[in-house]
Amino acid sequence: MFKANIETDGGIKTQAESTKVHYLRISVTDRCNERCIYCFPQDLGFLSKKDSQLSFEEFYAVVFHGAMKHGFKDFRITGGEPLVRKGTLSFIRRLTRTPGISSVRLSTNGTLLGYYARQLKEAQIAGVNVSLDTLKPSLYKKITGGDIVPVLEGIEECRKVGIEPIKLNTVLLKGINEEEILPLIDFAAEKNLIIRFIELMPISYTTKISKENFLSVYQVKQRLEKGDELEPLEKKWGQGPAKYFRMKSRNVIVGFIGALSDFHFCDNCNKMRLTSDGFIRPCLGNHLEIDIKGFLRPTVDPLGLYKSFEWALQKKPPEHSFREKYSPGRAMTAIGG
Ligand code: SAM
Repeated sequence: MFKANIETDGGIKTQAESTKVHYLRISVTDRCNERCIYCFPQDLGFLSKKDSQLSFEEFYAVVFHGAMKHGFKDFRITGGEPLVRKGTLSFIRRLTRTPGISSVRLSTNGTLLGYYARQLKEAQIAGVNVSLDTLKPSLYKKITGGDIVPVLEGIEECRKVGIEPIKLNTVLLKGINEEEILPLIDFAAEKNLIIRFIELMPISYTTKISKENFLSVYQVKQRLEKGDELEPLEKKWGQGPAKYFRMKSRNVIVGFIGALSDFHFCDNCNKMRLTSDGFIRPCLGNHLEIDIKGFLRPTVDPLGLYKSFEWALQKKPPEHSFREKYSPGRAMTAIGG
């Protein structure tokens, strides 16, 4: 289903541009400087040993010999918090300079953007997503354990240096940040940002979906429609599954990511993930992972990497399993959001 037009290229096959899956999210670290209640487990036992995290040389080898040979051309750097790992910026720079790569984007909690924004712009980042679940400092602290001030400064710095697009990612938490939805939309409108609302997913040990904490994007959209017209947009900002609308009176673009409530969520899935410890994960909501460390250590085996991606593409499930009493197998930070 996901294979298309395999051609031969000097013994190693390349997949043609028409490949449906062309987007790889790379978790460069499972470490994070925040502790989001829906993401980062309290018990740090899940953290991998330092040497089981891939080096940037190894990540690059996977991209070059594995992903790109199958037509992957769009990449997102994520984590954990990618900017806490030394070398992430150079890695991004190396990727953006690689012929055949169309876009490299970043997901971040924003805490270090004040320092990195200009360098990211110079590295030709194709956009940043910043997690922001509230504008209230006290609630921000409660949700993330961190300080909102550097995050807001970081967003400002991204605007100043001209990074585009800047998208805010807001995880919907019923009874916790519901009241923040409109203020966040107004903030996005004022700053000319895109805002996306994300349904809580059962992807970390901490995340239990219940009636008490789950708020669907469908409900949020309905609420917003009571006060404004939401014009559906064809255009996508990035490679992900969000559905975008323009809120007419505020003139702001709002996206919805409804992994649970949107029954067409997986229809056009174009992505796979690479975990920080060297597994290809074809689907976030499925436990299947392919260990590729054996093709990286002690030396790089290009054919092994190529074959691993071929296999992963064949095994990519048509749909996630979140609706089937899914229980997370390991921390989201290692898999990469
Ligand atoms: N540290 C970066 C950040 O804060 O964006 C990148 C990693 S974070 C895991 C990537 C995205 O996953 C964030 O937008 C975060 O809100 C989202 N995320 C984490 N846990 C989630 C969950 N249980 N349900 C839905 N989204 C989640």
